Amino acid sequence: MQKILFATSEVYPLIKTGGLADVAASLPRALLKLGQDVKILLPAYTSVMENTKSVGVKEIAKLEVDGYSVSLKQTRLPGTKVSVWLVDVPELFAREGNPYCGPDGNDWYDNHKRFYLFARVAELIALDKAGQNWQPTIVHCNDWQTGLIPALLSLHPNHPATVFTIHNLAYRGLFSYQAFAELNLPTAFWHHERLEFYGQLSFIKGGLAFADFITTVSPSYAREIQLPEFGNGLDGLIAYRNDSLAGILNGIDTDEWNPGTDPHLTCNYNRRTLANKTKNKLALQEELGLAIDASIPLLGFVGRLVDQKGVDLILEQMNQFLNLNCQLVVLGSGFPHYEQALKNIASQHPKKVAVTLGYNESFAHRIEASSDMFLMPSIFEPCGLNQLYSLRYGTLPIVHAVGGLRDTVFESPDDAGEVKSNGFVFSVAAAQELFSTIRRACDLFQQKDQWKQRQANAMSKDFSWDVSAKEYVAIYEQITAQ
Ligand code: ADP
Repeated sequence: MQKILFATSEVYPLIKTGGLADVAASLPRALLKLGQDVKILLPAYTSVMENTKSVGVKEIAKLEVDGYSVSLKQTRLPGTKVSVWLVDVPELFAREGNPYCGPDGNDWYDNHKRFYLFARVAELIALDKAGQNWQPTIVHCNDWQTGLIPALLSLHPNHPATVFTIHNLAYRGLFSYQAFAELNLPTAFWHHERLEFYGQLSFIKGGLAFADFITTVSPSYAREIQLPEFGNGLDGLIAYRNDSLAGILNGIDTDEWNPGTDPHLTCNYNRRTLANKTKNKLALQEELGLAIDASIPLLGFVGRLVDQKGVDLILEQMNQFLNLNCQLVVLGSGFPHYEQALKNIASQHPKKVAVTLGYNESFAHRIEASSDMFLMPSIFEPCGLNQLYSLRYGTLPIVHAVGGLRDTVFESPDDAGEVKSNGFVFSVAAAQELFSTIRRACDLFQQKDQWKQRQANAMSKDFSWDVSAKEYVAIYEQITAQ
C-alpha cells in the first residue's frame, strides 16, 4: 500500500474551474478503493471553507512558513471517505470566486507567492515535518500550481517519490525574474534545465524537470506534447524525459454522471430505455424557447469559451450551420468576444440557437442528456471529459481527432472489430471539416437503426476509473521500488 499526498489546486465539489477538479475528486476515490492511503492537499479558498462546513473542518497543525502563519486543516471530500488537508493562509487564499484570477479576469498579482507557499507546505508534509506522524511514499502533483513541489523536494535526500501529472500544458505558470527573486528558491534553480524558461520563471518546469515520473491524461497527448506543435516550447524537455512519461486516460465519476440516476434530468434513462432520453430533449427545447420537435437534431456544447475549444471553428461556419435543420445549445464562459458573438447569434435565431453564459453544473448535466450530438472541435485536448460524459449519455460526440478525443471517439471501426463507431471524427482542425462532419452526423440521425447502434456502442464502453487507477498504482510501485 502506498501513502499518497495528492496535491491539487482544485477538487470537485469544493472548487472547480475545469477537468482537473473532476480528476482530483475521482482518482483519489478510486485509489482509496484499491486500498491505498490517500490525502488530498488543497488551498483553503473561501468557497472551499464554505463548501466543507457541512462535513466539518478541524485544525490539525499550526505552522510558520516563510513568514506566513499557516493553519493546516482536515476535512473530507463531501460524500466520500477521502481525507482533504487544507492549507489555510487567509491573506493568500481567502478570496472569492476563481482560484487563479480576480473579478476583473486578470491573474492574482501574487499567484507566484500563493502557489510557492502551497508547495512549501506540501514539502513539509512530505518530509513529515508538519507534526502529523504521516509521511507519504508518493507525492502526486498536478499542473503548474504544484510544479514547485518536486523541485523543492529534490533538495532533500530520501524524499518521497514524486509524480507530476500534466492536465494541460498550455498553462505553464510563467512569471518574471522579479517574481523568482521574491521567492525563497535556490539561485541554482535559475537555469534552463531547471525552472528558467526563456528568461521567465516557469512553475510547470519544476514538475517536468524534477519529478521522478511524469504522466499526462491520454496516450495521444503524451505523444503530441513531445512535438513542437503541441509542446508549448517544452517539447524538448518532455521528449528528453520520455523514459519516465506515460499517458493514462482519465476516467469519469460514473455515479455523478449516470443517466440512469442523474437527479438533474427531467427523465432518467439507460441503454434499454433510450426513448426516455427524448423527454429530456423536448423539455430542454421548451425551456430554452427552441422549436419543440424531437426529429430536429440537437447539438450541445459545454465548456470554456477559449481558443483551445475550437469556438472559432463553430462561429466560422455558423451561416451554413443555420441552413441545416438542426439546433444548437451552448453553455460556457470565457473570452468576451466569443461570448458576445454567440449571444448575438442566439438573439437573431432564438428557435435554433440557445446560449447560456456562466457556469452551471446542473444545466451541463441536462445538456449532456438532452442533446443528440455533442460538439467538441478542440484544437488540442489533453483528455477531455465532456466527450466521455456524452458517450455515457448516448449523445454522440463530434470531435477533432486530437489528444484524448482521438483515443476515445471513433468513426471508422477497425478491421478486428474491437473499435466500434461511437461518434463523428474529423482529422484537420478546419471549419469546413467540422461543418461536413456535422452534416454527416445529421444525415445519420435520420437513419434510426444505425443511430441506435452507434448510441449502443457509445453507452457500452466502460470509462470508470477502475482501469486507470490501477495504472497509476503500477507507476507508484515502480518508482518507489527504484
Ligand atoms: P477543461 O478541463 O479543458 O475545461 P474538460 O472537458 O476536461 O475541459 O473538463 C471540463 C469540465 O468542466 C467538465 O466537467 C465540464 O462539464 C465542466 N464545465 C466546463 N464549462 C462549464 C460550464 N460553463 N458549466 C458547467 N460545467 C462546465
